[in-house]
Amino acid sequence: MILTTNNSSETESIAEAIGRQLHGGEVIELNSDLGGGKTTFVRGLARGFGSKDRVSSPTFTISKVYKKGKQEMHHFDFYRLQESGLMGYELEDVLDDTDNIVVVEWSGIVEKVLPLERLKVELSVTEETSRKLVLSYPEKLAYLVKNTQSL
Ligand code: ADP
Ligand code: MG
Repeated sequence: MILTTNNSSETESIAEAIGRQLHGGEVIELNSDLGGGKTTFVRGLARGFGSKDRVSSPTFTISKVYKKGKQEMHHFDFYRLQESGLMGYELEDVLDDTDNIVVVEWSGIVEKVLPLERLKVELSVTEETSRKLVLSYPEKLAYLVKNTQSL
């Protein structure tokens, strides 16, 4: 699925629609160049999921967790890491608990530990405030994107 947005709130709205469908256990991978809108997308996901926690990039921290009651969305960012190191182990632990929602920016170096069944989001900058979003997912995860095209 290919979508385009003309400002950051449109990107957030698409992500929010996806976030509303999350019920636990989903894995979402986000890739783009720096400033492509990955963290903006995560902000929408967390809002749609129902968390009021503040979303920011977890670079240089282990990970960030956004909560809604007992449910957790874990946010990783592997930007510029040559080795996944401790964060890689932390990611594996978090993936082991299949109630967790896991969102990964710059997933390249941890691709092999991510489940095959995941939503991939590839953002590219088309103009200063325009982005192309390419979403790919197995049929089993189609429910995540069902309300995104009407936005
Ligand atoms: P990344 O995490 O990929 O490095 P961020 O989400 O942190 O990207 O930053 C994206 C930047 O681009 C923000 O400053 C945001 O306001 C801006 N921006 C402009 N247009 C868009 C758009 N259509 N979608 C997402 N972000 C946009
Ligand atoms: Mg980011």
